[in-house]
Amino acid sequence: MLLNYCFYVSIFWILMISSCRSIPQKVGFSDLHNSAISRLFNQKNEAGLEDTTFTVSRLGIRKAGGQLFVFSLGVNRFDMQNPKTVDISEVLQFLHNFRNYTAQNYPNLVFAENKTHLRKILQQGKTAYVFGLEGTYLLENKIHYLDSLYTVGVRKITFGHRFHNQFISKPESRNNSTSIKGFPELLDDYSVISDEGRKLLEKMIEKQMIIGVSHLGKTAFQEILDFNQGRTKIVAGHSNVKKICSSTRNLTDNQIRQIAENKGLIGICLHQPMVWNTKEKADLQKVIRHVRHICNLVGAKFVTFGTDFEGRISPVKGAEKLNANFVQNLVLEMQKQGFSHREIRQILSQNMIHFFLNL
Ligand SMILES: [Zn+2]
Repeated sequence: MLLNYCFYVSIFWILMISSCRSIPQKVGFSDLHNSAISRLFNQKNEAGLEDTTFTVSRLGIRKAGGQLFVFSLGVNRFDMQNPKTVDISEVLQFLHNFRNYTAQNYPNLVFAENKTHLRKILQQGKTAYVFGLEGTYLLENKIHYLDSLYTVGVRKITFGHRFHNQFISKPESRNNSTSIKGFPELLDDYSVISDEGRKLLEKMIEKQMIIGVSHLGKTAFQEILDFNQGRTKIVAGHSNVKKICSSTRNLTDNQIRQIAENKGLIGICLHQPMVWNTKEKADLQKVIRHVRHICNLVGAKFVTFGTDFEGRISPVKGAEKLNANFVQNLVLEMQKQGFSHREIRQILSQNMIHFFLNL
């Protein structure tokens, strides 16, 4: 009888231990650059996170253990022949409406007003969010729009996005830069921050907004870091490692070191052409190699995920949808590549929470 009892107790613990290995403990998930809000803006539908057929949904965020999200709005500019199709007032109105809608309808998805509020939302087991803006061109020459963006909840702005504008431009010494017919010239390694751009940066620093440096070429990246001198936080919200994949949007080791020295954060992006160079479809194993490289270079404190889900990306295999399965597969892959449970929690969510609590 006693032997039988011992046998069943042993079996119970063996099953418990093996299930702990295969089903990782809940680690939470935060996203430094999630573009689902762009779809909602295009559809003029503040209730669009209800639709579970898309990559990002309210239910998926909950199931993934969502903790802190930067919903980054990238305005569709591919009809640049008519660049005034979107006015900043529409963006402000939409973000305002989305905040109102979530406040009234989603008790578990809450805009974080400030650090104290963020801490409270997380203690209650809810998901916090703030807004980001991809690119600065909507500001035109009116730097005071920054106040309005801050008021509706924008906390991070990616300083450049694809094209030159009044804040980031081609240097006078350079005549040739790449352009697509009918579009403004594309950002490249020679693009520089203009005088107006410096004024905008100064205002962002004054408001302690986060400056995003993804999409910038080498010169503008360096100019922003030199100008900022650590006064506000810098992130590469959706950038990977150039040594692993040579995409122009990926970071050199030197840039990674500089972001870490500035106590910034790098969000690993799931866009296939930024993960792996060959035509062979990349998977989460390849994604984690980028994470590993950054950890080896500067430590695990400066890396998280900036998925760019729904940002017109071509996602790697295993990153088709934001849900529990996706996070679990990330965890398993990180375990395979030797990350400790503590590091996994840090990278999947805690680094980002810590970053926002220390702004
Ligand atoms: Zn982007």
